[in-house]
Amino acid sequence: MVNLSRRHALAAGIGFGVTTLMGSSASAQPLIRLPNDLVLSDVATITAVRTPSPVVAMTFDDGPHPTHTPRLLDMLRERGLRATFYLIGNRVAQYPQIARRIAEEGHEIGNHSWSHPFLNNYSDRAAILEIDQTTNVIYQITGRPPVTFRPPYGAFTRRQRTFLNDVRSLPTILWSVDPQDWRRPGAHVVANRILSHTHQGGIILSHDIHRGTVDAMPQTLDGLTARGLHFVTVSQILGWPLWQSRNFRMVRETG
Ligand SMILES: [Zn+2]
Repeated sequence: MVNLSRRHALAAGIGFGVTTLMGSSASAQPLIRLPNDLVLSDVATITAVRTPSPVVAMTFDDGPHPTHTPRLLDMLRERGLRATFYLIGNRVAQYPQIARRIAEEGHEIGNHSWSHPFLNNYSDRAAILEIDQTTNVIYQITGRPPVTFRPPYGAFTRRQRTFLNDVRSLPTILWSVDPQDWRRPGAHVVANRILSHTHQGGIILSHDIHRGTVDAMPQTLDGLTARGLHFVTVSQILGWPLWQSRNFRMVRETG
């Protein structure tokens, strides 16, 4: 259950806030329902899921990038695949047309903070401000608020993850497959790392701001598909409805 008084206090201090609530009487029911088979038993933090289905969630962080992201979107569209993009708020403001295209082509958009700081040293109020600003710009541009959060560098304490889940209903999504593509090891290495470590129910981390990562995607996507794995978004791998079709109630908070 969300702590309404604490959430209101926070939002009042910040001056604005947009909260995602599910259902028509959200305050009377749990805001998040997750399957019981999450690999991490903490509902505020998810790295992968145990599932009988041969599904994986491909995630791309740090965009939108003006050239690499559209090139990646073309590759996904050619193959009819869905992915999840953890976008940086100030880049969404800079490239709104690319963010809109991501949503329009059936992909999911998650929250990756406004300015990509190490949030683990931030106060709750400063961290929520980073996250709320990003939710707001994504909502303004796509008409949908993100429903999950990925901390920059994965740097978010367990207490912060629980707090964010309590006050904003945003679980923290980490990953189970990390090709270390930000070190730019080359497309072939990125593809081989992903292909050799990916497992059913896995969440794959990558960054579509690097040319080599996008160059690796044809081999990666086709290789995973050839293994019988299906690509789903983060919402789908959690057993939620597709991001675009979830029933939201936006609540503008007032002090
Ligand atoms: Zn990042």
